[in-house]
This record gives sequence, structure tokens and C-alpha cells, in this order.
Amino acid sequence: MAKSFETVIGLEVHVQPNTNSKIFCPCPTEFNAPANTHICPVCCGYPGVLPVFNKRALELAVRTSLALHCTINEKIYFERKNYFYPDLPKNYQISQYALPLGENGHLELSGGKKIGITRVHLEEDAGKLIHREDCSLVDFNRTGTPLLEIVSYPDMNSPQEAWEYLQMLKLIIQYIEVSSCDMEKGYLRCDANISLREEGATQLGTKIELKNMNSFKGVKDALVFEEKRQRNLLLDGKTLSQETRLWDEVKGKTVTMRTKEEAHDYRYFPEPDLVSFSVTASMITEQRQYVPELPLARTKRFIDEYGLSEKDVEVLISHRWSADFFEQSSVHFPHFKQIANWIIGPLLEITNAFPEGFSKIKMSPGEFAKLVRYFSEGTLNNITAKKVLTEALTTGVDIDKIIQEKSLIQVSDESELDGYVSDAVAEHPKSVEDYRKGKSQALMFLVGSVMKKTKGKANPKIVREMIEKKIQQ
Ligand SMILES: [Zn+2]
Repeated sequence: MAKSFETVIGLEVHVQPNTNSKIFCPCPTEFNAPANTHICPVCCGYPGVLPVFNKRALELAVRTSLALHCTINEKIYFERKNYFYPDLPKNYQISQYALPLGENGHLELSGGKKIGITRVHLEEDAGKLIHREDCSLVDFNRTGTPLLEIVSYPDMNSPQEAWEYLQMLKLIIQYIEVSSCDMEKGYLRCDANISLREEGATQLGTKIELKNMNSFKGVKDALVFEEKRQRNLLLDGKTLSQETRLWDEVKGKTVTMRTKEEAHDYRYFPEPDLVSFSVTASMITEQRQYVPELPLARTKRFIDEYGLSEKDVEVLISHRWSADFFEQSSVHFPHFKQIANWIIGPLLEITNAFPEGFSKIKMSPGEFAKLVRYFSEGTLNNITAKKVLTEALTTGVDIDKIIQEKSLIQVSDESELDGYVSDAVAEHPKSVEDYRKGKSQALMFLVGSVMKKTKGKANPKIVREMIEKKIQQ
């Protein structure tokens, strides 16, 4: 019988918390600034300079540790991780090693499985190398940007589970407003380690580290490839050697980067230019206030409390603002399904086209609830309601004012509509004939014609009934 194996995966995630300035100097963290314009003697590691710890970075790290249920160490200190790299001008990175800020936490997946978190610590980022055909350039703007390192226990047993962990971690960090986690900007990066062991074995197999994955899909694909590669080798009776491999997205495979023999000895030692820092009880209490109900708990509550489908809730919860907006709107018009539909449909559709997304919309939840109510009461039809929504979202003008100014109230009065209906029927004899022959699409065409004549204000249901009546006469 073929041997069966258990896959063991752990993830190391780096997140850039949204501070305005770097972790040990006042240089801005702005993305995409011209190369080497956000640098100073501190982040460039000039002799004699002294780092000053950014309190905001610590607060956001405390918040993240709390959201991941970590124990927070009251006293923390930084250490130097020594290595040379062209984009690391100090030749060491200030990081945390022996005593991280947060330890022994967990993250719960939607199926209920808890993935352990070994540590959450703070460190500084390196710069960026830009490789040209005949040279390499270095940009130090990112040097000294704060990073949160979040390391999981090897508790995941499939690439799919690793992917779910990443999705949930990203969502939590977005919910607590620590980072946008925008991977394209490098605000979230992930390395993985994976090993296989025979089913039932207690010892872990040989660990392979994976780097260079630029998306969650990349992480999953790399793990799927590596799981298969390792299984095949083990089935052939071969042994694996510990190494770091790079994911080649184009070729869809992992390749050796360095073996264990080449591994660095970083010679960590306490950073002599920084004192140790106390994480006070008041800072923890303050940061706890910024940890809201987390996405998983909120999902369960939305299903129980509002009777929404899992699918709808998944969309609402996928951004904190849409979940918040749903709850705030529902207070004004407690028709939960309708509010949800208008958020998931038109609202998201419109705001997705905004360059700044939802953050700059000018409509209050109360106004939004009123719009949904007007639609459900028949004051506005689908077309005019969307028109009003678009306008209110961009201008912030009250919807009653928009409706009045553009006289958009739905026309359901048959005497008002009769002329338009008669015209449409008279103008399109071919469609009338088609409809009589049983082509139901022809009726939709005639309804559309009336909608056009009334600038979208007619009640399409009434129009449809009127046309049917007229044709059958
Ligand atoms: Zn600086």
C-alpha cells in the first residue's frame, strides 16, 4: 500500500503598519516618492546617529497582538540582526528576537480550526534594489519603514488552509485599521515553510522554506507544487535536505535559492542605541478599544441576527466599511435583505469605480436607508434610484433634494402614462406583431421605449400591464 503523508505548513507574514513616519526616524513612509527623497542620516545608518522609537508603530503592533489573542510582553527591547545587503545601509537590521512583543496567540479560520501564532514583533524594513541591464540601483526610501512580523505555528495541513489563514489575517488587520495590506505596494508579504511527514509520525519532516510569492494565489500555487514535489521524492525513498526555495511564477515551480549550509548566522545582540520599552496597561486598554468584533464573529452574528444568506454576509463582511454601513443603515430601515441587496449590488458597483473607493463617499447611512425605502415603496424605480444613489454618493446632497430637482419621482399614474404607451405601441407595429406571435422579448422592447420617453421615471410594472392591455384590445 502506498504511504500516505501529512502536510505541515507554517507562514511568516510581514505587514507594514500605516504610520506616517518611519520606525526610528521622522522620514515619511509615503509610497512611490521619487527615489532617495525620504531618507536621513538615521535610516541611512550614518555614524553617530541615534534612533528614536515611533510610538505609533508600537501602538499598532499592540493592537495587532491583541486581535490575534497574543500575550503581550510588558517590557520589550530591540536587537541587531547583523547581515550585509546592498539595500541595508547600516549592515544590520533592528528587529526583535529573544523577546517579541506578542506571543502565543491564535487565529480562527471560518471552519473553526485555530491556527497558533508564535509571535508578533516589530522590525525595520530594508530598501529596494532596482536591477537594470547593466547595473543595479538602490532606493533607500523604504529603509527603516516599520514592519510587523507575524509568525504562525506549523498548524496548517494544506495549501488551501494556508490560503484561508492569509485571507483571514488580512481581513483582521484591515478591520483593526493597522494596514491596508495592499500586496501590490508590498504592505503585506508572505514566506512559507512546508514539510511532509508520514501519517501518524510525531517528528516533523524536513522543512523547506519558500520565498518570492507575490500574491495569495502565488503562495497557494507554490505550496501545491512543493507538496507534490516533496511527496514524489519521499515516495521514491529519497531524503530532503533543508533549504530555501524561490517560487518562479512564470515557470510555475520552485527552485533552490540556498541550502542550509549557506544559512546566515545573524549574531543577534541587544541594540545598544535603544533602551528597553514598557508596554503600559493603559496603552493596552486604549488599543483594545480599536479591536472591534472580528470578521468571523461578525459573520456568525449577521447570519443569526439579520437572517441573511452566507453568501450575502461574505460580501458584506469582506470590508469593514460595508459591514458597518449595513448595520448603520439597517437602524433606519430594518428591512435587512433589501439594505444588503442595495449595498452588495448598486453601492459596491458604484464605489468600486471611485478611485478612492468607499472612503470618500458623501452619503450617510440614514440617507442610504431612505433611498432603499423609497425604492421598496415604489417612489423610485430601479433606474431612478440608481441615478439618485450615484449623485448622492458623489455630491453628498440630500436625496429628497435630488429627487425634487430632477423630478425623478416614479410615475405610476395611468392617466399620465397613457399617452406614452399609446405612442410606443403606434411607433412600433412590428414589435406589437411579434408580441402577438408570442415573442415575449418584444414586450420588453416596448416597455423600454416608454422608459426612454419618460426619462426612466415610469413605473415599469405599470407600463408593462398597460401595454399588454392595449395590445390585447
Ligand atoms: Zn530617516
